[in-house]
Amino acid sequence: MPELPEVETTRRQIEPVLVGRRIRKLETTKDSYFFLTRAKTLRAALDGRTALRLDRHGKYLVAALDDGARLLLHLGMTGQLFSSLAASPRLLSATARASLAPEAQADFRPDLHTHLRFHFEDDGPEVYMRDVRKFGKVLWLAPGKSDARLDKLGRDALEVDRETLVRASRKKKATVKAMLLDQSVIAGCGNIYADEALFHAGVRPGRAAGRLSTKECARIADALRQVLERSIETGGSSISDYVSPDGQDGGYQDERRVYARAGQPCLVCGATIRRKVVAQRGTHYCPSCQT
Ligand SMILES: [Zn+2]
Repeated sequence: MPELPEVETTRRQIEPVLVGRRIRKLETTKDSYFFLTRAKTLRAALDGRTALRLDRHGKYLVAALDDGARLLLHLGMTGQLFSSLAASPRLLSATARASLAPEAQADFRPDLHTHLRFHFEDDGPEVYMRDVRKFGKVLWLAPGKSDARLDKLGRDALEVDRETLVRASRKKKATVKAMLLDQSVIAGCGNIYADEALFHAGVRPGRAAGRLSTKECARIADALRQVLERSIETGGSSISDYVSPDGQDGGYQDERRVYARAGQPCLVCGATIRRKVVAQRGTHYCPSCQT
């Protein structure tokens, strides 16, 4: 599952090939659950439009169009947004059956899994959205229209600060881990990043959110941003299960401290990393570094 860093990496790579170029024509596959907006409606809405910006909120990519409409894209499990000029990251565990390797994207010819194909007026590189399993989504929002998918999202995980967490944790009986995974509090914080951030902040995942001190909220917010930013710097490859977008596995460097390290020694103190289920998710922590 692409996490926020992979989505942000994709955004940064696709922005220069998408933004500012007038769309001559959008080609689509036929209607399926990939299309939250009907394919025909989508094609009519996009023809002749220009994207002014490509933003990200949580794991949604949002293109602001020149007529005030917005295009929402979600990569789902195996969705890839790319062009021959800018590859998109791939999911290692799904490579063989679903995702294109970054090196294959440069010579890519649209196939039956290419649900969106943007042709531009300048006849330059096309932009593709390809998704074998179709868990990805596309939604067109008419000017002025909003959507619950965006409205219900909390602060973007990269912008979370002490105040966000102080406010969200107040009087909460839920665990701090559950609070971090609650998308209405923090948009885009996945399981790996929650565990890693809590390790760096020195806070146990199973503690009640309502009992966090202001200082701890600040430490968690800082740690979360740092873990995510570090992962974006490496194209999403340092922490998650992705390879870097340029396909160089040599750049892969595992920086995980607790996630998927149960039974191994803590790299800081040597204690054995533990795993237990918190907030219905496999949760990893150091019993000595985290209190
Ligand atoms: Zn430790």
